[in-house]
Amino acid sequence: MRVRFWGTRGSIAKAGPSTVRYGGNTSCVELRSPDGTLVVLDCGTGAHGLGSALLTGGNAPRRGHILITHTHWDHIQGFPFFAPLRVRNNEWDVYGPHGAGLSLRETLAGQMQYTYFPLALDDLGATVRYHDLVEGRFKLGDIQVTAQYLHHPALTIGYRLECAGVVVVYATDHEPHSRRLAAGDAVPRGREDARHEQFLAGADLVIHDAQYTADEYPSKVGWGHSTMEYVVQAAAAADVQRLALFHHDPLRDDDAMENVVTLARQRVAQTNAPLEVLAAAEGQVLDVERTRRVRSAYTPAAKSAIASPAGNVHEQSVLVAVSDAPTADLLADAAAEEGLRLFSAADVDTAIDVVRRDQPSLLIIERSLAGRDGLDVCRAVRGAEGTYAKEVAIVVIEDDDDPEALLAAGATGSLARPFDAGYVRTRMRSWLLSTAWHLERAPLGDNEAQRVRAVRATGLLDTKPEERFDRYTRIAAALFDVPVVLITLVDADRLWFKSHYGMDTCESPRDAAFCPHAILDDTVMQVPDALLDTRFADNPLVVGEPFLRFYAGAPLKLPDGSRAGTLCLVDYRPRSLNDAQVQLLGDLGALVEREFRGG
Ligand SMILES: [Zn+2]
Ligand SMILES: [Zn+2]
Repeated sequence: MRVRFWGTRGSIAKAGPSTVRYGGNTSCVELRSPDGTLVVLDCGTGAHGLGSALLTGGNAPRRGHILITHTHWDHIQGFPFFAPLRVRNNEWDVYGPHGAGLSLRETLAGQMQYTYFPLALDDLGATVRYHDLVEGRFKLGDIQVTAQYLHHPALTIGYRLECAGVVVVYATDHEPHSRRLAAGDAVPRGREDARHEQFLAGADLVIHDAQYTADEYPSKVGWGHSTMEYVVQAAAAADVQRLALFHHDPLRDDDAMENVVTLARQRVAQTNAPLEVLAAAEGQVLDVERTRRVRSAYTPAAKSAIASPAGNVHEQSVLVAVSDAPTADLLADAAAEEGLRLFSAADVDTAIDVVRRDQPSLLIIERSLAGRDGLDVCRAVRGAEGTYAKEVAIVVIEDDDDPEALLAAGATGSLARPFDAGYVRTRMRSWLLSTAWHLERAPLGDNEAQRVRAVRATGLLDTKPEERFDRYTRIAAALFDVPVVLITLVDADRLWFKSHYGMDTCESPRDAAFCPHAILDDTVMQVPDALLDTRFADNPLVVGEPFLRFYAGAPLKLPDGSRAGTLCLVDYRPRSLNDAQVQLLGDLGALVEREFRGG
């Protein structure tokens, strides 16, 4: 992969003679895969230069993806000035964190209202699609992307991009959860800091916020940025090959930047890690090669990062178990602003009762709770059986930075006082969004019991392959030019394949399958891009092996009218059938139905 820096500065653009070497433009990085997939990381003022450069290549249509970490100005101010967005025939997909109130599109439109900018978002000439993200995975061409929340006053996402064995991580703006870790101390990591290190694990290149130094940090606590000392330590521990310090402070001139790099290299020398450190400079190009044959293990959650536009369907709730009244009030207000149902408890026993009875979506517990250890609540919850006990987010308010105790008790994260309502809301949202799971199971039809009886009565389930069915899947594969064609029967809790072209397995669990959706109706069901369809974006077959993207299924009827299963087409890339092809698939389905009778 090739990386080019167009903007490296944090907070505000800083043009002038003191920043010529490292650059004055704010965050914007261009990344290209070997197959030519173009990814733009953030749209700070550096996007202006990138946009102009892209247009010098003539009028050929351009297609690209813009990944926004968050919508602070220094990451989006170049968006209205990114010229390819104004050119017809250009196609851009824009991704960014799914907020609580406004969508990514609405937030970007906000900075282009007529009081701020002469051209409205809707007047851009290019085709622009907006995608709201939560934590999880998605694919951009040949690049597999993992999105993970960072720690910043606004909801912020870091991106891990993997392609052909090469890993690049873009993580700005981020402050370590532990203040001692941020100050450069070698202290044990809590769960969230360990998780962040995991996100960097084994990367060939990490581009990381390093706005401050440990000396400057005491007056910057809570601003949402890292120190050079922390980043070097984390990258070395995470077995990173190359680290590009990024999001340079606007007050740091070129000579001061050189000093920071020198200090960083001295620190690396003390660790003995094979880590190369540089400070990202505007205009600099890095060719990132595969440097690892064996890479530190990294296993992201197997769920899609594409947020459901409906937001969270289920009502969410929070337990605030806090005995300190001002803190409890502040948290209650934040919960109300986020639209969360509130449960309160002022002591350990009440808190445990509330959890058992109401199972709130998020637990916020004060460490010192009415004379007892708030971690007792944490231990009681984690000690119970079931998915809720294992997965609910538990956050501990503690003032003395004791990550080992929190980790041992099973806490998800911590909150250190003082904090304000805005910060708490951002944290609540990221904890809730990172534990939310929205796999949509197909509803059952009205006569499901009768339908299953009819399917079983065909006598086809678990029989050997037959030429009279296989010929149809072969024909369909050639006709529609798809790698996989199946004739499926939807049994009570599984999908069984009477014929399977291009796929070895002959059954799959019903919960995750597409066909149970297709048999709800008499017409062909088409899913042009599963990642963009809220029913399937989280589907394990989409976000994991075999990474399905396209599906089209014609329902197959039995003589009694029950829809038994489908003749379906599957592809690993997005595509769509035109009307004539939909008709053709229906016609082929009708021929397969005749075999049900003629068996
Ligand atoms: Zn920033
Ligand atoms: Zn920011």
